[in-house]
Amino acid sequence: MTRIILLAPPLSGKGTQAQLLKERCGFVPISTGDLLRRASTSLDEEGRQLAKILASGELVSDDIVIRLLSARLEEIGMEKILLDGFPRNLHQVELLDELLQSKNASIDVVFFLDVPKEILLSRIEGRRVCACCGKIYQVTKDEQRCTCGGELITRSDDNVSSFEARYQQYLEITMPLVSYYSSCGKLVRIDGCQEKEEVYQDILKALKERCEQ
Ligand code: AMP
Repeated sequence: MTRIILLAPPLSGKGTQAQLLKERCGFVPISTGDLLRRASTSLDEEGRQLAKILASGELVSDDIVIRLLSARLEEIGMEKILLDGFPRNLHQVELLDELLQSKNASIDVVFFLDVPKEILLSRIEGRRVCACCGKIYQVTKDEQRCTCGGELITRSDDNVSSFEARYQQYLEITMPLVSYYSSCGKLVRIDGCQEKEEVYQDILKALKERCEQ
């Protein structure tokens, strides 16, 4: 049983790695961003508020995020889970620890995908997401369809001003988690500037070293 976290700046490719780890290793990814995007389509007041926060690049309140995460964990169980985009601040680390302890579980490895800001910025323009299955693409020309047939769309927060807000949040609020998980001996730094297959192979190698002893 392995439980991992992908910790990374926006546009670092963590969603792509989550997808590969799902397809090839059987991990069950939980993206709090995806859970929130789904909740934001609801027509009630909470849905409307969420849509505004997501488009601005600000963080959603911890109680909403933990509520959606707990509900999702109830549905899928605790085996081989991969957390993508959670925790994002030190309070969420505590909330996660409490939640896992109540289920006699813990996190095994935290992968930190390290990518400098200039490279992240260069990825904004070409990023598309499948409206149907959520698969992420970097497009160079107008590719309109995902392999599943779904339409490729630009996320509401994939623009420079929203990226700047998300990156600032990441530096101030999320980066301290790198030191925290490093001090627990759980952090593995991965060079996220490589091709996606090389990033994946580095993650796989570290997973084997850490979890199959
Ligand atoms: P992501 O898909 O991980 O890039 O997240 C997209 C957006 O969802 C973020 O910019 C936040 O507004 C929100 N979000 C995702 N995960 C969290 C979280 N753990 N805590 C607060 N807000 C989150």
